[in-house]
Amino acid sequence: MSRIAYVNGRYIAHRDARVHIEDRGYQFADGCYEVVAMRNGVFIDAGLHLQRLRRSLAALSIAFPMNDAALMVVMNEVARRNLVREGFVYLQITRGVATRDFAFPGKARPSLVMTARSKLLVDPKLMASGIKVITIPDQRWARPDIKSVSLLPNALGKEAAKKAGAYEAWQVDRDGNVTEGTSSNAWIVTKAGEVVTRQADQGILNGVTRLGLLRVIAASGFRLSERPFSVAEAKGAAEALLTSSTNFVVPVVRIDDTPVGDGKPGPLAKKLAASYADYAAIGGSDKS
Ligand code: PLP
Repeated sequence: MSRIAYVNGRYIAHRDARVHIEDRGYQFADGCYEVVAMRNGVFIDAGLHLQRLRRSLAALSIAFPMNDAALMVVMNEVARRNLVREGFVYLQITRGVATRDFAFPGKARPSLVMTARSKLLVDPKLMASGIKVITIPDQRWARPDIKSVSLLPNALGKEAAKKAGAYEAWQVDRDGNVTEGTSSNAWIVTKAGEVVTRQADQGILNGVTRLGLLRVIAASGFRLSERPFSVAEAKGAAEALLTSSTNFVVPVVRIDDTPVGDGKPGPLAKKLAASYADYAAIGGSDKS
């Protein structure tokens, strides 16, 4: 089946999908994106994704190209035309096409592009084995809370992980604390049984899966603390895990060369993964 992309109001063959060379996304990474997962044909927490997209666009003073209802129609249509029932829709909005100049153009129409791909969101192999992460310095700009398409440090980090035989790289700030993965949020479970993830300030992207899992944790009554944790604390933790829209909740069993706990997926990580999958099965909190 050939894939279909949405580009500025038109559904076209993926192989023919183009934006102009002076699109500011291409020239300056001047744009934002979202990755919205879908399971059983239902988007998971689409409302939270659109809320975050609005926040990112507002932070960059890029106009929102259409209202939420219209955006949902296009998202569903892109998924439908690509026969996606389990997978994700990628949507990207840039400031638009203008003669190359750092300052914002007087008039530019934001570019809106969407694609969709099928993907298994819970990979049984990853769940059974758990994954390894490496640690790297966080070299990003000071606003990773904005979901901008400026992802070069993330790409370099993921490549370093791949070369080290790891699945993800956890980025570490100047104080030695883990901020987040290159495309996921980072969590640990302390030996005292407390679930810990960094507070969502300007230093991390506030993951929609993170928010969903926080709701699951609150409903289950597990102890939780949103605070910084160091690499040393993570290596000495009972369990570790990561969250992202396209992988849900995955146990982390090794950080650099140190096994976490007994080096196997932890019991709480497995429980949280199962509870989050139940939460996602009904579309998350907003069921859109
Ligand atoms: N942190 C970063 C840097 C990311 O790029 C992502 C997702 O791409 C996440 C966290 C997880 O966010 P979400 O759960 O919304 O997919």
